[in-house]
Amino acid sequence: MTETIFDKIISKEISSDIIYEDDQYLAFSDINPQAPVHILIIPKKRIPTINDVDKSDAKTIGEMVLIAKKIAKNKQIDKDGYRLVFNCNDHGGQSVFHIHLHLLGGRQLNWPPG
Ligand code: AMP
Repeated sequence: MTETIFDKIISKEISSDIIYEDDQYLAFSDINPQAPVHILIIPKKRIPTINDVDKSDAKTIGEMVLIAKKIAKNKQIDKDGYRLVFNCNDHGGQSVFHIHLHLLGGRQLNWPPG
């Protein structure tokens, strides 16, 4: 499996605006925000795409959602609402092959997305 820029963010080789960290997960601000709140939640364990997730990863995915929910509350966007997105491969617009959950909020988001 090829390293991605997120491995360097996890190791702190590249600095990021860290919002949450524990031994298994990291959340940091997206460098190219698409909304007033745009945070990426990642597992420290590298899984390239959602296609690579299996039953043994169910807890990881669930915990990523719980971290996103907690951050949304801390950022006070929970009442107005927000969006959680996993992009997968080319058509999904995935550019970093280490799964990440986008937390987007702080403005009205359009649907359907472009
Ligand atoms: P995706 O297109 O779903 O793979 O999302 C990858 C996200 O990573 C994009 O929204 C990028 O802006 C973001 N990104 C890339 N490099 C960095 C970085 N060094 N720090 C924070 N976010 C990054």
